[in-house]
Amino acid sequence: MDARGAVSEAILDGLAVLLPVECAGCGTADRGICADCRAALVVPDHAEHHLLEVPASGAAGAHGLPLWFAVGYDGVPKEVLHALKEAGRLDGARPLGRLLGVAVMRALEAIEPRLPVGARLETLVVPSSRAAFRTRGYNPVESLLRWAGPQPRRATGLRYRRTPRDQASLGADERWSNLSGSVGAVSRRLEGRHLLLIDDVVTTGATLLECRRAAEEGGAVVWGAAALAHTAKVKRTNSELHGDLVSRQVYGGGKGAESNRPRLGRRVLD
Ligand SMILES: [Zn+2]
Repeated sequence: MDARGAVSEAILDGLAVLLPVECAGCGTADRGICADCRAALVVPDHAEHHLLEVPASGAAGAHGLPLWFAVGYDGVPKEVLHALKEAGRLDGARPLGRLLGVAVMRALEAIEPRLPVGARLETLVVPSSRAAFRTRGYNPVESLLRWAGPQPRRATGLRYRRTPRDQASLGADERWSNLSGSVGAVSRRLEGRHLLLIDDVVTTGATLLECRRAAEEGGAVVWGAAALAHTAKVKRTNSELHGDLVSRQVYGGGKGAESNRPRLGRRVLD
């Protein structure tokens, strides 16, 4: 360790005495995330892929939404994200953001070759409800994206028209009706844009599907979503879902812009 490293270590140790902290992953006394939990947050070289299904009560004719995510919502990632969102532990933003970056990267790799000529994919972060933003003072997904590596241009243009009830205790169908119509597109801002939606945790996908509905109402094409973590058990392995299966079933096999639009019945990958 050089002199500067030793000094900053000493300063951090001093701060840890003044402001003792626990590891956001396991609660062990540490200045930040402990070595074991950092190891559990190591960035995989692939992202899982899953198709979010539209519930039976959803919009008629709506198709599934392809989702790329880095990890299951469990264990250390779950604890560290919970600490970031509920206790303002922003030291988790860097390792979690790098995980989110992998999901974004893999989504781009799958989607970009299928875009119409001249189109550019942009990311759009799922908006925070006003109440959530007031409580936290920041959008956790934005904090993660700061560490997610190179990304496409960011689009904005969705906002909550009303505040939905807290989703935690609701079942899938209740989540859907709770959210339906709650998000709206800001006038004309999304018209003609090609979007990848970004969120931190996906449970049933109701929020993402609602954001897609609103973005499409605003004139955008939504190609998929990328998230840090997904709660659902993935039924097939990543390799089984990759390649032709996904491209054929999710995006269709034809040529031209129209056939490149995501279109799919909701049962295909079930
Ligand atoms: Zn730990």
